[in-house]
Amino acid sequence: MEKSLCVVALVLFLGRFICGAETTTQNFSFLSNYTTPSSVKWTQAVIVEEQSRDRVTPTAETRRHSKTVTEEQPNSTNVNEGNKGIKEEELKDREDHKIKDKKINLDCPPLGLESLRVDDSQIRASSSQRTGLGPHRGRLNIQSGISDGDQYDGAWCAEFKDKHQWIEVDAIHLTLFTGVILQGRNSIWSWDWVESYKVQLSNDSVDWQTCMNGTEEAIFKGNQDPETPVLGLLPVPTVARFIRINPQTWYFNGTICLRAEILGCRVHDPMDPYQQERGSRDNLDFRHHDYKEMRKLMKSVTEECPDITHIYTIGKSYMGLKLYVMEISDNPGKHELGEPEFRYVAGMHGNEALGRELVLNLMQYLCKEYKKGTQRVVQLVTETRIHLLPSMNPDGYEVAYEKGSELSGWADGRYSFEGIDLNHNFPDLNNIMWDAQEIAADASKVSNHYIPIPEYYTQEDALVAPETRAVISWMQDIPFVLSANLHGGELVVTYPYDCTRDWAPKEDTPTADDAFFRWLATVYASTNLVLANPDRRICHYEDFQMHNNIINGGAWHTVPGSMNDFSYLHTNCFEVTVELSCDKFPHVSELPVEWENNKESLLVYMEQVHRGIKGVIRDKISKQGIANAIIKVEDHDHDIRSAADGDYWRLLNPGEYKVIVWAEGYFPSVRRCRVGQQPHPTICDFTLTKTPIQRLKEIRAKGEKIPKDLQLRLRALRMRKLRASTKAINRRRENQRQRARRARST
Ligand SMILES: [Zn+2]
Repeated sequence: MEKSLCVVALVLFLGRFICGAETTTQNFSFLSNYTTPSSVKWTQAVIVEEQSRDRVTPTAETRRHSKTVTEEQPNSTNVNEGNKGIKEEELKDREDHKIKDKKINLDCPPLGLESLRVDDSQIRASSSQRTGLGPHRGRLNIQSGISDGDQYDGAWCAEFKDKHQWIEVDAIHLTLFTGVILQGRNSIWSWDWVESYKVQLSNDSVDWQTCMNGTEEAIFKGNQDPETPVLGLLPVPTVARFIRINPQTWYFNGTICLRAEILGCRVHDPMDPYQQERGSRDNLDFRHHDYKEMRKLMKSVTEECPDITHIYTIGKSYMGLKLYVMEISDNPGKHELGEPEFRYVAGMHGNEALGRELVLNLMQYLCKEYKKGTQRVVQLVTETRIHLLPSMNPDGYEVAYEKGSELSGWADGRYSFEGIDLNHNFPDLNNIMWDAQEIAADASKVSNHYIPIPEYYTQEDALVAPETRAVISWMQDIPFVLSANLHGGELVVTYPYDCTRDWAPKEDTPTADDAFFRWLATVYASTNLVLANPDRRICHYEDFQMHNNIINGGAWHTVPGSMNDFSYLHTNCFEVTVELSCDKFPHVSELPVEWENNKESLLVYMEQVHRGIKGVIRDKISKQGIANAIIKVEDHDHDIRSAADGDYWRLLNPGEYKVIVWAEGYFPSVRRCRVGQQPHPTICDFTLTKTPIQRLKEIRAKGEKIPKDLQLRLRALRMRKLRASTKAINRRRENQRQRARRARST
């Protein structure tokens, strides 16, 4: 084999993943050294696409940032001061951004072992213990099934324990390889990892060249535990098509097992017809935004679309980061009679970063399309009040962000700063309701909605995260109708209940609105380009395609205290969970395509808030709206209440329904309401008549004279009551007489 050919390459940063003005002004060429294996001869300048602005190594920049986070101490909640807060804090950021803009990043993106962009057929190995531990399982962050006999286990494991084992990735295209990320085996039964390894490169998978560190073969440091990903940068970035990881030493008590990701930039080839990478045509800021950048972006959207946007905060995280919400509506800042309220919540698990970026993309998209006059968006914004919370757990996100999209592992940043899993932190109302139903003589009489928060949960020392408290009071302040809770790490849409009955680890636990929830989940899953792709492979070990990519939360695994269940049982709002991608924290280069994968789903899901029936419940005389009226749909054991102005929304599938409405002090009212196939609600208004007793109460309270008509009604009412009680007395006496007669005759 010939010696490596050293070439000096002109590396042009095209910056196709960088948005806006920066793209054209900053990314000028500079020189970089790299080597290629012998069979590739480079005689002219090579252009490498810059696909990455994401850090894979912690830098001084991240350390600066973490300092800023800790400087912000927790203090009292400030609601509705978002815009002002942003202005002040933005000035502080300006200096940081100047430095950041100057930073030139040489890191290449991952090939996509984790994201599944690399197909199983591109990964080979010298040997493997069994199918479930085959080379296709050697993907960063892949999760194993429960038992060791699983078909889907938690790593690639070599059959033999020697230094001749390897796992190989075919990048298909010529690639400038820059690094390898290694992780041990995910298993609750055994510990295995690789402690050191060599890297080999090839253009044909026949002739291999070992990566050198000067004159010696480079030995890369691997893992010291099963979970922490460790980055090994190639001493000299090298162009090739194939790359091999060749383990040298491993955990003394274990065997050769690893999960990996490869970093590399695809070498530009003008002859390659597949050069056009998938992306998005929407001109959105496709980057991972830390707290400051998120705030800056939200501010820029309100500046671009001041008429339809409003930023407010619902509280603060434990570390004092504000929980910002962007409201998008034609009349931002206030509830309009009859207009339904919608919310997206992302980043409840801080390391599940895709939802955060999609929500930020959505803000920009709605603003831009509204300005353009795109009919669908104009209609949505005019008829809906949309609330977007991109980061429910900003403390957790900052932890994951500092490590970067590839090195944050599977759990870093999931929890709140206090270590609380926010999706288990809401009050468990399911068991309160089920227990009450069990002891009640008539279970149908037990309240099936608006279940109050239990006493224990309201104690000062209750383990309730400030983030959870903030979201609960937000849910109580706004009459939300529909929501989705955006997560990551799987590809599936789940619907309530999340909590199973009788503590079963998994069991289908449907709500009274199961049919509508299944519809909602299906709407998202069937329009998402990845979920709807019948050829996609499973993320980890569970096959949700069998269930059309939707599943009841309890049937997947029980989660007591989930946000979805709380939302359904404590408020009027229906909420599903969307697991957006196999990779919890996709690389920045994946963001444009992930936006395209989810764009239609995000829009069409919001439009579902206009399904079913809606209307206003009014007092017959005063025409005033009646708050807190109960809306019951026959054969649906889940009621809804009217909002402060008497307006209500009842999500329902097409069909004809008998709807009963009542409110304290009023006679109930019944109507039949028909829901059609069209995606707009049927208007079903109700007018309620006060009971004479209620009217009397109110008149007496005001010290007014009782009008004639009311006197007559009360007279008739009392007469009716007297007759009814006389009948009851007569019936009782007749029964007594019969019993006495029977006793005498025996
Ligand atoms: Zn999650």
